[in-house]
Amino acid sequence: MVYNVTPYMDYHPGGEEELMKAAGIDGTDLFDQVHRWVNYESMLKECLVGRMATKVATPAKAIIPPPSPSGLAPPAAGPPPPNKDSRPRYDWFQTDATVHLVVYAKRKIPSSGCVTVDLKAGTLRLEALLGKLSYMIHLRLAGEVEENVSVHYAFSVGKIQVTMHKPSEGKWTSLGQPLEFHNTFLCKKDRGLVYRDCTLVSKTEVNHNTHVFRLQCPRGTVLHVPVGKHVYLKALIEGAEIVRPYTPVDQDLAAASRPSSHDSDVYLMIKVYPDGVFTPYLNSLQIGETISVGGPDGPFSLRPLRDVTHLYLLAAGTGLTPMARLLSLVLREMDSISTTKLLFFNKREEDILWRCQLDDLAATEERFQVEYILSEPSDSWSGRKGRVDEATLSQLLTRPAGSRCYVCVCGPSAFTQLATGLLKKLGFSEEECHAFQG
Ligand SMILES: Cc1cc2nc3c(=O)[nH]c(=O)nc-3n(C[C@H](O)[C@H](O)[C@H](O)COP(=O)(O)OP(=O)(O)OC[C@H]3O[C@@H](n4cnc5c(N)ncnc54)[C@H](O)[C@@H]3O)c2cc1C
Repeated sequence: MVYNVTPYMDYHPGGEEELMKAAGIDGTDLFDQVHRWVNYESMLKECLVGRMATKVATPAKAIIPPPSPSGLAPPAAGPPPPNKDSRPRYDWFQTDATVHLVVYAKRKIPSSGCVTVDLKAGTLRLEALLGKLSYMIHLRLAGEVEENVSVHYAFSVGKIQVTMHKPSEGKWTSLGQPLEFHNTFLCKKDRGLVYRDCTLVSKTEVNHNTHVFRLQCPRGTVLHVPVGKHVYLKALIEGAEIVRPYTPVDQDLAAASRPSSHDSDVYLMIKVYPDGVFTPYLNSLQIGETISVGGPDGPFSLRPLRDVTHLYLLAAGTGLTPMARLLSLVLREMDSISTTKLLFFNKREEDILWRCQLDDLAATEERFQVEYILSEPSDSWSGRKGRVDEATLSQLLTRPAGSRCYVCVCGPSAFTQLATGLLKKLGFSEEECHAFQG
């Protein structure tokens, strides 16, 4: 293929010098070494001149540049990572009006997202949560940008593209200066938490004591919380700083399958305890008021689910929250899981959260089953009764021959402790169980 990259000259991070290394010769090796993760067909589409009609007998090869001393600009001049290097890396490019940061995670990323971007006062902080590890870009940007930011993904190739807008035309010579933890790939637990003020935009009743609080992030923030991870809400209540973890849900159980579902608002399904410290304060917030949101955080990883055939979800009360997005993801993307069974423990029928939605899903999805178990049912309840116990679990958590099982547990700590103890007794190993807790 022959490309005319002259119009791109001004915007290429490495500049004219880098592009000239492949001018008039076969640049395939150079491109593969520096931009191996870039989809050149779409990126260079506009520059395509045509296909070479005859093969050059001994094509000249481009000169591979020596290693660059800095990880920053121009990134295109940096050395190629060794093949076994699975660390994510980044690149950037610009037009007159926009600046684009591209992160190559070098692994598939979940379609539900894994990236947090905070653009504030000329500082860009991007964190990509990849399993238990976190990749971070942290820069004081070289030029001015507008407040808003957008993130696009190519999930299957692990590409994350952040787009920022220049308030006025101009060429940047570098992306910016590195700040703390820039271009590092660490265990998530070794990173601090960032908080931003989010606005309460709606509050929707789910049952007599639980609401979905919809929080809108500032324009410079994109918060795509990975499935199974939580955020923290923080407030000053009677002079004390109070922090509580909450696991985001989608707007509803079907939301994740709708194409427009990638809004950056955070939906939290929260039970209000009249005698609680935090939830009465949250419940008293008016639409338009703000609350501090930190994270995401949490040890849950989708990795153990890769070879699983039977997924069991044990939830009590608002312990449904991590299960809701996990359930949607499994049904949408994990075909190897042939059975997903939710055992949902509550006191009374009116406590069951999203019951209609769960029933609808069970009716339409043959891979999903739900069992409600009530500890204080009314006389008219004909379903299962009682608390979490060995007999119920051994009856419902079957292990068909050849199956590989995984069990997730979430609820009040007493429930979680009891359920995990029972699972152990029933022969489920530690590797086969995950308990969502603080
Ligand atoms: C990882 C994680 C994710 C979570 N996600 C969600 C979620 O998505 N939705 C949700 O609603 N909740 C969630 N929670 C629970 C949430 O963080 C809070 O604990 C909950 O909202 C109560 O906060 P509060 O300050 O209002 O009540 P608290 O003041 O903490 O009290 C809660 C209730 O427990 C009682 N209580 C307090 N201390 C004791 C004690 N020592 N012994 C007995 N009873 C006591 C109180 O009287 C009250 O009834 C999550 C918890 C964790 C750890």
